[in-house]
Amino acid sequence: MSARSIIRCNCGQRIYAKDVVQTGYYLRLVGPSFVYIKYRCSRCKKLGEQFVKQEEWEEGILNDTPCELSPEEKKRFERMKPIDIHECIDAHFELEKIETVSDLLDRLEEAKR
Ligand SMILES: [Zn+2]
Repeated sequence: MSARSIIRCNCGQRIYAKDVVQTGYYLRLVGPSFVYIKYRCSRCKKLGEQFVKQEEWEEGILNDTPCELSPEEKKRFERMKPIDIHECIDAHFELEKIETVSDLLDRLEEAKR
């Protein structure tokens, strides 16, 4: 069991508070109660739902972990759209053009700009 539970879509994308469309409690007389979360994944746009045991539910489960990304990285990633198939193909062709390590480093520098 990981130290911190997080919610993920089937596609692997992490679910944050902004993706949640509905939450509720599923109370049982016997056994653990659950927190119910309905979400729309920000990556694959599919609706999903998940039950989290109330004892594993914690404040911050839907919030960003500050140490995961620097604020600059976070801003950069938030501005980016999901990677589509055309970008994958482009990336493949770009990779084919690279012949030396210094070539690769030049391209990485360019990409940062
Ligand atoms: Zn998804």
